[in-house]
Amino acid sequence: MNTVRTRFAPSPTGIMHIGNVRAALMNYLFAQQYHGTFVLRIEDTDQQRNIADGTRFILKHLSWLGLTPQEGPEIGGPFGPYFQSQRAAIYSKHLQVLQEKKLAYQCFCTPEELEARRNRQIAMKKPPRYEGTCLKLSATEIEQKMTAKAPFIWRMKVDSTKKISFQDMARGTLEFDLQHFSDFPLTREDGTFTFIFANCIDDCEMKMSHVFRGEEHLSNTVSQIVLYQALEYKLPMFWHLPVLCNQDGKKLSKRDKGFSLEDVQAQGYLPEAICNYLGILGASFENEIMSLTQLAAVYKFTSLHGASQIKYDIEKLKWMNHKWIAGYDLTKLVQLCKPFLAQQYDIAKTSDQTLAVLIKSIQTDMQTLADCATLLKFYFERPAVNVAAFTEIADAVVFDQIKTILHQNINDEWEPFIAAVKQQSKAAGIQDKILFSTIRIFITGSPKGMQLHDLFVCLGSKEFFERIRSL
Ligand code: GLU
Repeated sequence: MNTVRTRFAPSPTGIMHIGNVRAALMNYLFAQQYHGTFVLRIEDTDQQRNIADGTRFILKHLSWLGLTPQEGPEIGGPFGPYFQSQRAAIYSKHLQVLQEKKLAYQCFCTPEELEARRNRQIAMKKPPRYEGTCLKLSATEIEQKMTAKAPFIWRMKVDSTKKISFQDMARGTLEFDLQHFSDFPLTREDGTFTFIFANCIDDCEMKMSHVFRGEEHLSNTVSQIVLYQALEYKLPMFWHLPVLCNQDGKKLSKRDKGFSLEDVQAQGYLPEAICNYLGILGASFENEIMSLTQLAAVYKFTSLHGASQIKYDIEKLKWMNHKWIAGYDLTKLVQLCKPFLAQQYDIAKTSDQTLAVLIKSIQTDMQTLADCATLLKFYFERPAVNVAAFTEIADAVVFDQIKTILHQNINDEWEPFIAAVKQQSKAAGIQDKILFSTIRIFITGSPKGMQLHDLFVCLGSKEFFERIRSL
């Protein structure tokens, strides 16, 4: 049986940051490469941060990206439920084991007391740490507090005399001295379980072989190793993914606008390009343009390097998006461009067939899908007469000659129109190239662009000649 199991464990807060996408992607690629299982688990224990449709968003986003889990909510699997909010009984059982081993204790310190102590430690230039106050309570004191119904949490006892170590795929063996770590909370005052506890128990119970997550979780990992050892679970292999930074080296935070998946999607990036870009980030490949399948096949998980930061380069993403759009299936591209066009124009009367001709003509010019609205503006809105564009290609006399020829030959049919216009222009000594560029300026405002016949077909003869007549 294949034992590689990876997971993506987001909280349903409604925002999928680009860093979360990268974590999901790496877990997905690794599972694919080793023919393992990619699991989705919803970490919804913090009710205040959850939004009602959070899980639906996550499933929708993952499916859009092509990162489909094999186990998870709505999919099922042997290690469910896949919502932390439905796993309280599992956490309670493990808490009980820790209680029996005398490794968990009740803490009655109020948030105000903790805050005051923390401030005092900071003022004394000491690292803020729980001082083990409630560990010193006698059985009678605990009983009294319980009788008085004093609120409490369960804390994990951390043996500060010990050191722990674990494997990180990029950095090798990491060792930490537990004297720098506090006795950490396992539960909240309302009886729910903390992230550190629930997340670790789930990884154990769901038999995760590998845990890939953002570097910001490194200190959580240390606390969780204490739990793994206390509960005698085998450690998974960790990979703490480098933090994504902007060009100035500043960490991209969840609050930064423009870096949620929804923002990037709205800016017109293809899922293939997003995964491709996030997949090659921080590694090097001969051919950088790769599908998920190709990435899964060639990614070298065995030679990761331990950088703690990598730059998120929007220009590179744009370049990759451009490459992906240029090679995209036209029929699919038309459907993807439609919402961007519909944001600005009434596209109801434009057939898919016409859109396909229009989009094909700009396919290699688009960097993002949103560009189609600018590049096809000429089609939906009659362009203003671009006198400057004319003067760049011919002098005013030639322009007037062409205008007269065009006006004399207006015809519902393309062939007779273009044949007559070509013949008369030739007689007047006007080169075809100048003729065609001038017609294009009449129709689109620009000398370059679509084939004239395509323009005629897309716009229809009525609109085509109205644009010529209006000059
Ligand atoms: N819910 C955590 C987060 O979204 C999960 C971290 C992990 O992958 O362990 O940051």
